[in-house]
Amino acid sequence: MELVFATHNKNKLTEIKAMLPHHIKLLSLDDIGCTEDIPETADTIDGNAILKAEYVRRRYGYDCFADDTGLEVEALAGAPGVFSARFAGDEKNDDANVQKLLEHLKGKDNRKARFKTVIALNLTNNENLFTGICQGEILEERRGKKGFGYDPVFKPDGKTQSFAEMNLREKAEISHRGKAFRDLIAYLAQ
Ligand code: IMP
Repeated sequence: MELVFATHNKNKLTEIKAMLPHHIKLLSLDDIGCTEDIPETADTIDGNAILKAEYVRRRYGYDCFADDTGLEVEALAGAPGVFSARFAGDEKNDDANVQKLLEHLKGKDNRKARFKTVIALNLTNNENLFTGICQGEILEERRGKKGFGYDPVFKPDGKTQSFAEMNLREKAEISHRGKAFRDLIAYLAQ
């Protein structure tokens, strides 16, 4: 079975390739000749994952899946949420996003937050969503050098380290994306 992962992110491709059962051949967007950025114009995380998978299905005709992730901060009424990548502007700059988040939370006691990943699987006869959530809190300052995005300021509940202080395996065991990917893989392995 051939399955397209609708992402241009090489790290995500490598990560999921290592987890997939052997009967599934994973194709990247480059493999199918899709070099354009797929529009992410929905106003929810679920909606964007569905939109990206449907785009690949409609234009290229492949079985596929797409993921979308957002950070939801309680004291900011769920922001940045679906706008996590562009929180500080269209350049999608991780550092500027983290800076803006720390400024918005300055002096706030409630620092509860959660990461949410949704994977939309689009097969010929059915569509499925897989959701992974990781609860935690936003630290007052950056900690750690690993990872990407908001990792340096996100500390998962029950852990002492930020995501940026964990290695890939430690993070994947408890992360939003790890959970959603494991559920997808269990479904595909059935
Ligand atoms: P995407 O949907 O994977 O592109 O993620 C949207 C935005 O959320 C990205 O720009 C990242 O900054 C952030 N993000 C996604 N996943 C993670 C994560 O595991 N840790 C920290 N930030 C993340």
